[in-house]
Amino acid sequence: MRREEGQSFSARVKEELVRLPLGKTCCMLSEIAAFTQTSGHLGFRGRGGFTVSYRLDNAGAARRLFLLLKRRLNVSPTLHFVQTPQLGGRRTCVLTLSGEDAGILLNALHMTETDEEGQMHFRRTVPRHPMTRLCCRKAFFRGAFLGTGTISNPEKSYHFEWKAEDEQLPDTLRKLLEKAELPWHTYTRKGQTVVYLKGAQQISDMLAAMGAAQSVLTMENIRAGKQLRASVARAANCDEHNGEKALDASLAQMEAIKRISLKIGLFTLPPALQQVARMRLEHPELSLQELGEQMDPPVGKSGINHRMRRLMAISAGLEEE
Ligand SMILES: [Zn+2]
Repeated sequence: MRREEGQSFSARVKEELVRLPLGKTCCMLSEIAAFTQTSGHLGFRGRGGFTVSYRLDNAGAARRLFLLLKRRLNVSPTLHFVQTPQLGGRRTCVLTLSGEDAGILLNALHMTETDEEGQMHFRRTVPRHPMTRLCCRKAFFRGAFLGTGTISNPEKSYHFEWKAEDEQLPDTLRKLLEKAELPWHTYTRKGQTVVYLKGAQQISDMLAAMGAAQSVLTMENIRAGKQLRASVARAANCDEHNGEKALDASLAQMEAIKRISLKIGLFTLPPALQQVARMRLEHPELSLQELGEQMDPPVGKSGINHRMRRLMAISAGLEEE
């Protein structure tokens, strides 16, 4: 697979998707329905004359849609490019079907129907397309992603979204996501509804559903690397931070105990305190809690804390003398 430097993860996923086989007859129509719902525009041309045009920024996606239309419905869209000045001169591919070809597409998607006299009647602006089969639902996710989806670079964050101009696409997606048992979220941005997935697992599942096996691997590798780095960092933090703190405390305690020993002798202490003092001198590396656990009988955390505080107080008193 060709990988340009700086190519976004989104672009890489799309590049993989547009190269997948077109799939089964049922799935081809689902993917066409998804393209129609995400990037299709319906036009009326006089009496019963329709046009359907698709605008796609991704040339690979446009090529795939062209092949899907040709293979599944035997229609041939015209192709031209428009330059969008406000988007930094980005080239948009426009595929247009008109006349009889537009009719074939609209009938296939149940947007129009033809009566006995061969007259076409308009029914709805949104494709009505049954997606009872799992394979077809996956094809719809793929078509919708190619039409309007983006995925963030998993090195930085886990975010996968489809954006929509109206509520029709979000409705369809929500139903399909529920069937797929993938938790989805929505928000509104500049009048657009965004349906999105969060969480590495959900996004990885969606990539797999769309058939982007290579991207799943890439993402899983990145995810494993991130987890490893996080756990190493956590362990290092833990050791350095807590280890240092425990060592500092232990050194201070030993100083205090040595002062008691020099000035009045450990034997003058109550047996419980003597025991702690001797244990500390023997095991400078242990935390206070571990020290308590080593004692016979073991002393709990609050018990050992209390005894150590008394030792420290006695030592502080001797310092003042
Ligand atoms: Zn199918």
